[in-house]
Amino acid sequence: MLIVQKYGGTSVGSIERIRAVAERVAGTKKQGNEVVVIVSAMSGETDKLIDLAQQLSQNPEGREIDLLLSSGERISAALTAIAIQELGLPSMSFTGRQVGIITSGSHTTAKIERITGERVKKAIGKGIIPVIAGFQGITATSEVTTLGRGGSDLTAVAVAVALKADLCEIYTDVDGVYTTDPNIVPEAKKLDKISYDEMLELASLGAKVLQARSVEFAKIYGMPVVVRSSFNNNPGTLVVKEDKDMEKVVVSGVAYDKNQVKITVIGVPDKPGVAARLFNAIAGASIVVDMIVQNISSDGEATDISFTVPKSDSRKALIITEEIVNKLGARDVKLREDIAKVSVVGVGMRTHSGVAAKMFGTLAQHKINIMMIGTSEIKVSCIIGSKHSDLAVRVLHDAFGLGEKKGKKQDRTKRIPTK
Ligand code: ASP
Ligand code: MG
Repeated sequence: MLIVQKYGGTSVGSIERIRAVAERVAGTKKQGNEVVVIVSAMSGETDKLIDLAQQLSQNPEGREIDLLLSSGERISAALTAIAIQELGLPSMSFTGRQVGIITSGSHTTAKIERITGERVKKAIGKGIIPVIAGFQGITATSEVTTLGRGGSDLTAVAVAVALKADLCEIYTDVDGVYTTDPNIVPEAKKLDKISYDEMLELASLGAKVLQARSVEFAKIYGMPVVVRSSFNNNPGTLVVKEDKDMEKVVVSGVAYDKNQVKITVIGVPDKPGVAARLFNAIAGASIVVDMIVQNISSDGEATDISFTVPKSDSRKALIITEEIVNKLGARDVKLREDIAKVSVVGVGMRTHSGVAAKMFGTLAQHKINIMMIGTSEIKVSCIIGSKHSDLAVRVLHDAFGLGEKKGKKQDRTKRIPTK
């Protein structure tokens, strides 16, 4: 097999850890596989570099940040190659540029456009183990770019696709993808298998094991991804295309996100074009809006609109909203920062009814008020007060029978017969 192995920050966090990575790579190779290694920066390194830049400037240029941050992954790539060589195996480290990872020009959030991969293919052909610095690429005009936080996952999946690898393994410090955060719910269970769509929902809902864009990429190209720990030999979680078995499970996981704020515009005129103007302005500032709720106006004249944005954009979004609201003649704008989003996710929802009802009922039983509700085909999300977040995650995990100990408890949602 040709296996791409990506090692995250904690997996290469020290010289000891880098030695352990080299051992694992050598072991995989000795089993008769070809291996291509992708590494993240050593844990904490990227944050440290950002902090250095921020000591010099409130608003450093993206171009300079990219050159700066790309160095973190270069360090771990070179060190990992040295460690592999020490085990008597030929290895070579490569930067994103040397591998031909061509990206768009949007600094700090560049998109991969194509991967030439010539040097990597040549190295593999000669039996050399390539170690590639993750998270970075190069534009057509030779500017260094980075792919956004957690971007080494994307490098790994994209390289795996470009090389037509059989498998992409993502090594981290947890055993895989869990039914929820084990720090909040100790009974959380590791999933053996999860579909791309479920993983996408969990990733974008704040489960931090895999970068969401890397999952999208894997889904488009059907690349099987395994998330597993570099600290043991447990098999991990396989992220693959949906299959019949997965449908039987109504809810696969409970996710939460405490990194959003809610903005409410009160008393906006109830007429065409109002929402368009507001959200155009927000989008114009590159702020990503997550949930939106608009009320029916009871008097036909004015209505309320609530929406959520990432905490880091809260000031910017508030200023823009206030400006627009002054022009539109709305009554008031309110910002709430003490919110959390809890969500239940599962492809089984497509064929089972009663998931939302059960979720709301469970929250009600525990006197947790719901401020906003959003749904997709495979997810129901509620915005609640942040102080209730942990409790909500715990009771929902239990109500949907996801716990290790209570795993046998059957769900009372009904299956809709499919034709
Ligand atoms: N080092 C980068 C970050 O911390 C990329 C990565 O680790 O995937 O976001
Ligand atoms: Mg990561």
